[in-house]
Amino acid sequence: MKDFAFDWDSESDRILDNSAVTPGISEYKIKPNTESGPLFLLKNSTFRMPVHLFTPSDNGGRGFYLQCTSDENCKLCQEGVEVLHVVLVPAIALACKPADFEWVVLRVPQSEKPRSLMPQLMQAIRGKACSVIINRLTRISYRVRTEEISPDNLEAIESMVKEWMAIPEEDRRCMMYQIIQAYSDDEHGFDLNQMKRPRAR
Ligand SMILES: [Zn+2]
Repeated sequence: MKDFAFDWDSESDRILDNSAVTPGISEYKIKPNTESGPLFLLKNSTFRMPVHLFTPSDNGGRGFYLQCTSDENCKLCQEGVEVLHVVLVPAIALACKPADFEWVVLRVPQSEKPRSLMPQLMQAIRGKACSVIINRLTRISYRVRTEEISPDNLEAIESMVKEWMAIPEEDRRCMMYQIIQAYSDDEHGFDLNQMKRPRAR
C-alpha cells in the first residue's frame, strides 16, 4: 500500500498535486432506523477489497479494518484471522445547494441477501442516472429507493464525476481504503463476534 498524503492548498481550496479531489471525502454512516440523504453513486468506480477485522484485546472491543494483501506476507492470514470482503462505493451526497455537495464513501457488506444493501443498491442504480435514498431498517436490513436528480444539480454532479475519474484508479482505491481503515464497530453490518480469533500458538 503506497502512502497517500494530501498536499492541501488552503488558498485555492484544492489539493495541489491531485488537484481533482475534493478532500472532504469521508465515510458515510447510516444508523439503524434512519434514512440517508440523496446519494449519487459512482457505480463504475466501486472496489471490492479484502480486509481483516482486527480487534486488539486492549481496545475496548473496537477493531480496525486492515487490508489483506492476499499473499504469504499477510500476517493476519498467517494468524488465521478471517478474510472479509467489503465493497467501497464512492458517492456524492446531494444537498439543496451545489456548494453543499460532498464526496462520501459507503462501506457495503458483500451480502446477497434480499434485504441487504448491496443487491438493492445495484438494482436501484441500474439504468438512468438517479440518486438513492437508503433506509436502514435494522442493523443488517435496508430499503433503497431512487429519486430523480434535479436538472439544476446535474452539471455540478457531472463535473465532480469527471474530476473523480481523472484520479488514477490506484489512488482512488488508496483514498477510499484509508477512509475506512481506521474505524469499525458492529454498527455497520459486521459482527465482531463473527471474527475468528487468532489461533493460539
Ligand atoms: Zn490476509
